[in-house]
Amino acid sequence: MVAIRENIERIRNEIRDAEVSCGRRPGEVRLVAVTKTRPINDIIEAVRCGIEMVGENRVQELVEKVGTWPQDLPVQWRLIGHLQRNKARKAVQAASAVDSVDSLELAAFLSKLAGEGGKKLPVLLEINTSGEGSKNGIAPGETEKFLEEILKTCPFLSVEGFMTIGPLGGDESKVRKAFSLLRSLCGKARDSFTLPLPVLSMGMSGDFRWAVQEGSTMVRIGSALFGDRTYK
Ligand SMILES: *Cc1c(COP(=O)(O)O)cnc(C)c1O
Repeated sequence: MVAIRENIERIRNEIRDAEVSCGRRPGEVRLVAVTKTRPINDIIEAVRCGIEMVGENRVQELVEKVGTWPQDLPVQWRLIGHLQRNKARKAVQAASAVDSVDSLELAAFLSKLAGEGGKKLPVLLEINTSGEGSKNGIAPGETEKFLEEILKTCPFLSVEGFMTIGPLGGDESKVRKAFSLLRSLCGKARDSFTLPLPVLSMGMSGDFRWAVQEGSTMVRIGSALFGDRTYK
């Protein structure tokens, strides 16, 4: 049995230590519990232990879990995985935010769907800061053009910031470089568009300490809370 309560406490302490270690105010960084592959009872337990946001990376799984979720237990469902256009409608119905917007076509369609539902959908733009071909996301050099197009053409999206996945392999200097790139891209975009863009979603189980030290405001943590998974 995985001790979810203890794990949450430990991770919160580690996030706090990382914040303090670089002079940040403790409590600034928000924790998204990544719940892909986890049974609903583990997620309920995590939310009872104070988790406020959960991240799923497959639409079908997200929809099933939202469908059986207890009504009296508030939680925010975020889609953090690559989204195909043909699943966008279901995603907009089930998720309260999409953290993985990685193309203009997807952005335009999400905006249309959100508009039909009479709401604005909070989104993050996924940037491929490592340049790895296996990863989704916009090339760093395209970030401003991409954001500009979205602001022009997607009235029902509310762009809250950027998201990235650190490079594979765990080499500290490479990982930090990717995270600090996201931070600087976000800073430049704030200036260019005079937008708050408060969210920098970066850092997972293996690299969240570095991410916090490089300016993350939202970490996405799965295996360190719930144990190992059978798929990534
Ligand atoms: C699975 C996943 C995570 C969490 O990964 P862990 O290493 O288990 O913490 C974070 N972000 C995304 C996009 C994921 O798909």
